[in-house]
Formats: sequence, structure tokens, C-alpha cells
Amino acid sequence: MAKKLYHGAAYYPELWPEAIIEEDIKFMLEAGINVVRMGEFAWSTLEKEEGSIDLSFFVNVIKRLNEHGIETVMCTPTPTPPIWLTHDHPERMHVNQEGHVMVHGSRQHICTNNPVFREKAAIITEEIAKAIGNLQGVIAWQLDNEFKCHVNECFCDTCKTLWHQWLEERYGTIDVLNEAWGTDIWSQYYQRFGQIPQPKAAPFLHNSSLTTMYQIFSYEKIAEFADEQAEIIRHYSNAPITHNSTTFFHVDNERLFENLDFASFDTYAEKSNFASYLFNCDLWRNLKVGKDFWVMETSPSHAASLASHSASHPNGYLKAEAVASYALGGEAFCYWLWRQQRTGCEQPHGSVLSAWGKPTVGFENVKEVEVARKEIESMILSTRPLQAEVAITYSDIARAFFKTEPHRELVYRDLMIKFYENILSNGYHRDLITENASLQGYKLLFTPFLPNVSTTYLERAKRFVEEGGVWVIGPLTGGRTEHHTIHRDAGLGELEEFAGIETLFTYPMDGTESVGEFLGIEAPLSLWSAIFEPKDANVVGSIKEGISTGKAFITEQRRGKGKIVMLGSLPVGEEGDKLLSTLINHYAEEANVRSHTDVSQGTIVAPREKNGELVWVVVNMDGNGGTVTLQMNGVDGITGEPIPKGPIEIGAFQYRIIHFRG
Ligand SMILES: [Zn+2]
Repeated sequence: MAKKLYHGAAYYPELWPEAIIEEDIKFMLEAGINVVRMGEFAWSTLEKEEGSIDLSFFVNVIKRLNEHGIETVMCTPTPTPPIWLTHDHPERMHVNQEGHVMVHGSRQHICTNNPVFREKAAIITEEIAKAIGNLQGVIAWQLDNEFKCHVNECFCDTCKTLWHQWLEERYGTIDVLNEAWGTDIWSQYYQRFGQIPQPKAAPFLHNSSLTTMYQIFSYEKIAEFADEQAEIIRHYSNAPITHNSTTFFHVDNERLFENLDFASFDTYAEKSNFASYLFNCDLWRNLKVGKDFWVMETSPSHAASLASHSASHPNGYLKAEAVASYALGGEAFCYWLWRQQRTGCEQPHGSVLSAWGKPTVGFENVKEVEVARKEIESMILSTRPLQAEVAITYSDIARAFFKTEPHRELVYRDLMIKFYENILSNGYHRDLITENASLQGYKLLFTPFLPNVSTTYLERAKRFVEEGGVWVIGPLTGGRTEHHTIHRDAGLGELEEFAGIETLFTYPMDGTESVGEFLGIEAPLSLWSAIFEPKDANVVGSIKEGISTGKAFITEQRRGKGKIVMLGSLPVGEEGDKLLSTLINHYAEEANVRSHTDVSQGTIVAPREKNGELVWVVVNMDGNGGTVTLQMNGVDGITGEPIPKGPIEIGAFQYRIIHFRG
């Protein structure tokens, strides 16, 4: 199969009279849709009565679409189990933390660990894989849909039993667990695994170890379900398998995608939050290294349900999003959804066609995406995204720690995106990488908001430093053990010796009117902070005002050919952004980071390469237009005109392709 860039939509032909398929195909061809995703909510269509499974409808639709060159991503329908599986079976349903048992309807109402559900899910998955796995036009699989989007950990009895087994596998003996969790506190001591509660409603907060471990348990169980489904499909089909996830569902994406073939994500960020859109591209590109990611769902105009809606995209923004994702490593840009839903709870959601079969407000924008896709396709297919030199570690395990310990309602994802924006807006090409990712090829590594620095992460990062990398650690990094307890040997554990510091105190800076200084820039400090005493490190950032005046909050220490930098607090406000920018630029220069431009804020440069030839895709995301300086002469990738070195301009939501030779 020849490689191509996909432009797709989620399609629900099972909800419409069959005659409408012809009309849909006509509009799909007009809009440039070359792939659809189907089947993820169609369990009751496929298996109306338990045991009588009929795939002929979808087989027929897939064939008809394929006759027109429209390919299919087929899904397993497990997010919406049918009534015969749920009726009169409260023990199969998802139970939330308050003990409420979910009823039928909506979606994700069943416990994915329930053995009866798993048996029925395996049967329907196998039948779909058998009937559809080798059909022409089926190019990929999506498992389920948005795992743990609407629900988090389940508290049913099935999960209770599995939880006890999981703990026993993890800790071995109850004494090891008691010691690791410090259960003498508040008389929590357990005599055996079967006594350990699920962290349901309690008079006050649960032990941090219990709360965090229950999340990690839940992460692993949903990933096991994905593994099981993928294995069934692989018996019958060679098409690659993915799942559509995000960074706010209750999953560990690194673990979830471990046994899947490519990464895909859903995003409904508004234009005002384009940094979040780019954050996703920079993360999912690196989740399956060397594999293109898919934007599996995004709205052609706005996201909405019966109870909410986002701001509609300005005209032109959709094209900027599409070009940015293709340039940053995307193979597909797909809408949710093709035809507006007539029923259910998402009728107001943006779509390409309305429920009454007419183009929506997004339709012309979708056509613009198609023009752009065609224009850049051969360039994208003949190049690869350049590996960044600046990496930021992203961790869903860290996210679980913050959920257990949010201080003042801290949200991991928001903290990370804000931190990422500092690097983005300073013109660095950047990779967001997972905790277990290789550090090969990077020059500057940021590890913010990682409460537990695992021994394996620390060893990898130490090697990175010794071989010449600059590693910036913090804020809020290193203060917790893997069991979500506090270190006994040092405030930030093993990290301190390597960093050449000792943590004197940790406390929240908010409300203390603390001011920190780094390279002549002063800014207010915030968040739970670590105050350092240098051992053999140098103090480069010190506290000028507040209750720790004169002490250090930024230190640096040479190790091998590189350097380790401790950032103990988060500078905030306009001055804080300035201080962080100074810090990023200072250490990027020391680390000799070269994939850096002077691109103006709101515009991005996505560098790609082929055999040493560099290609820039410049995209304006904020609608204000922008500028960037070319350091050498280039050639316009669309017109073929030479572009002399120097500054160039880019219009609102426009893109430019620039080739540099030699
Ligand atoms: Zn359960």
C-alpha cells in the first residue's frame, strides 16, 4: 500500500437509512475525506441478541467506501456494551468512588475488568476481526474508544479482588507493603492483602500510597484489556492497531501504547489554546518512536454536548491545525464527526455535514485542509520530523501523584503545558518524551513536575549528563518515593548527591512574597518549593525576599562533560516567564542547542529532514501572522522561488514550506 496522508472522519452509517450512504460518499469525495473510522459504538447493531452476530452491514459499507477510494479504520465496539449484557446485572457495572453503580446508557457504564464483559468483548472482537480483518480498504484498527474518558478507577467487587492480587504481585508480602506505605500511621496496619481497602469514600483523605497505587493498578488493568483485544485482532489481521487517547483520561499512555502499533489522540482545543494542540503533537510523535501518529478526532468547528460547547474555530484555523500536525509527525487528521448526530447527547457537536444532509459551517474549512494536504503531501512523505535537541519528560504516573496530592488544586497537565509554552514560545524545536524514553540525541533535558524520579530514570539521566547533556530538574521533582512517601535520607532522595546539593527545607512559596533572582532577573516564586544548600554545586539562583532570603533555589553542578541544574521553585507572572525564558536560553546555549529560531510568538517552525536536507514548515497558529529569520538562502517549497536569507513573513493561519540545501 502506497503511503499517503490521511484526511478522515468518524462515520456512523448504522444510525442512518442505508440510502444516505451514497449521499455521504458524494460529500466525502467533495471534502477530500479518504478514510473513515467506524464501529466503535455499534455493539447493539452487530449483536442485537446475545450470540447472534452479523457483520454484513459493515462489510458492505467498507466495500462501498473502498470502491470510491475511501479506506476504513475499524473499531471494537466495547465502550458501549448492549442491554442484554447489562440489564439486571449491577455487579457488572462500573462503580465510582462514592459507591454509585452506573446504569445502562451513555457509555463506559460497565466495568472493563468484569469477567463476563471480558468474555463477551473477546467474542465480538474475534468475530469482527474474522469478518473484516482482511477486507480491502481496512487499513487500521482502533480498540474501544477513549478508555477512561468519563470514568476513572472502578470500585466494584471484581476490581477489589484484582486489586488484592495486584498488590500481592507487586509487594510479595504484607510486611513489605506495610513498611513501604508506613501503615503504622493512623493504625492502618494490614494483616493480609485481602484487608486492604479500595480508596472509596472515607471521613478524611486516604494514605497517599493507597490512593496513588490504586490509580496505577487501574492504569495497568485497562492496558491489559487493550493488550487482550489487540492479541485477538492480530490472529486475523495484519492491519496496525491503535487507540484514541488523551493526556487527561485515566490511563498511563506509555503503558497503554506499549503493545499497540501506532499512537493516536483526540483533541478539541480551541484556537486560544493552540499550545495544547502542539503539546499533543510533540508528545504523541514520541510515544511510538519512528511511527507517525494520528489525530483521530478533532472538530471541524467546535466541540459540544447537550451540556457544553467550545468556541467555534475562526476560518482558517483548521488548516493551520492540520498542517501543523502533518508537519510535526502526523499521518492523519480526522474529524469527529462526519454527519451531525440526530439523537443521543452530542447533537450540538460540530460536524462536516449537518443532520439534514447539508454542509456545516466547518465544511469550507475542511475543503481548505484538503487543498493543503495535497499541497504538502509529497514533501511530508519524503521527509521525517527532525529529532529535537530539547526534551521534556512527560509522565502519566506523575499525573497520578498530582491527583493524589494536588496541593491547591494543581493539575499536572496544566502545569506541564504552561512549562512547555515557555520552551515553545522561545522558538525551540522540542520533544515531549515519556519516562522510559531513550535520551539519545538530546542536548537539553527538562524534568519538571516528576514527584518520583525512579532509579532507572536517574541512571539514564546521569549517563546523559556525563556524556555532555544539560539536565534541568524541577520544580516539584524528586520529593516522593515510588510508593508516594517522603524520602528518609534526603529531601529529594538519591538525586541530591549527583546534583551536589542538600535540600534544607521544602514548603509552599505561595503567599510568602518570595522573590528569586537568576542572571539579574527577579521574579515572584510559587508552588511547593525546595530550598538548597550547595555541597559542591554552585548557586546560580538565590532568594532575595521572603522567608528564606539569601538561600539558593537554582544550583548547577558539572558532572562528566555535562551539567545538572536544580530548579527548586516556579517563578511566576510576567517576570517569572522572563526568568524561565532566560534560564531556558542560557542552558540551551550552554548545551549548544541549534534547532532554534527567532520565530515570533503564535507561529511555529516544524523542521523536517531528508538525507541531510532540511525543510521548514512554518505555520501561523494564532491568526495574527508572524515572522522568522532564515539563516541561509532557501527555496519556497510551493512556488519553487528562491528565498534569500533574512526575515520572512507569514500571514494569518498561513503556512510556508522552505527547503534548505547543503
Ligand atoms: Zn470494576
